[in-house]
Amino acid sequence: MHRLYALPVLVAVLLGVTLPEDGPVPMPKPEPAPQATQSAPVPASKPAGDEVGTPSSDVSETRNAAPAKQPTGDAEKTAEKPAITAPDADEVALAHCEAELRKLGAVFEREEPLRGENGCGIEAPYRLDQIIRNVALSPSSQMRCETALALAQWTDTVVVPAAEALPEKITLTGISHGSTYICRRRNNSATGKMSQHAIGNAVDVMSFEFKGHDPIPVSPRAGDGTVEEAFQRAVRGGACLHFTTVLGPGTNASHADHLHLDVIKRRGGYRLCE
Ligand SMILES: [Zn+2]
Repeated sequence: MHRLYALPVLVAVLLGVTLPEDGPVPMPKPEPAPQATQSAPVPASKPAGDEVGTPSSDVSETRNAAPAKQPTGDAEKTAEKPAITAPDADEVALAHCEAELRKLGAVFEREEPLRGENGCGIEAPYRLDQIIRNVALSPSSQMRCETALALAQWTDTVVVPAAEALPEKITLTGISHGSTYICRRRNNSATGKMSQHAIGNAVDVMSFEFKGHDPIPVSPRAGDGTVEEAFQRAVRGGACLHFTTVLGPGTNASHADHLHLDVIKRRGGYRLCE
């Protein structure tokens, strides 16, 4: 009798303890405060036309990122709580990621951790020189392994076949980008949320290069009726299979000349592809 009475209570207690909260997606565990605030090297190349100018228009890029702190203007004097933090390096996942990259013929190098202010940084940055065999990334750049793998898989399964489907059956030789890792807020704004670029999750694709054919830059092409428009639509549509955010021409003015691709994790695996 006592047992029967206690059972529902026990179940309720257990449920109360174990039911997940219906809250926002937990962000990656913050790392312990860095001992010394080392400035992360910031890539010399400034992204061309990267989300500049319209802070409110790019809300989607980091929709579920933790709120950012107000900028201090002099970040070195305050130990700001990171707005977002670089995911911890998971060696098992990284080994798997590296193996997948090798299979695709990527040329890459793991580098020392990058740590910047306001949560910027990458625990395990990878310098990617060649995305897949015979397809270079220019300039070579740093990102998380997961980002590199998404880029490699998209290139292999979407971009290369799309190029081969063009009437000239052209061969893809490279993809050029405007930025990958860079410690900044969205749209290069002085305030607001940090960009997915700040944790190595994003790449801005500017142009596709081919053997014996002019490059096809990303540009507003809707309604052109050209084969370049068809190519751009195909690779952009296919990008949503590999990335969780795809923005580009038509999203807003700041994305008129590139595809912003990132691997942010959202609740329920939601993808934002425009
Ligand atoms: Zn971007």
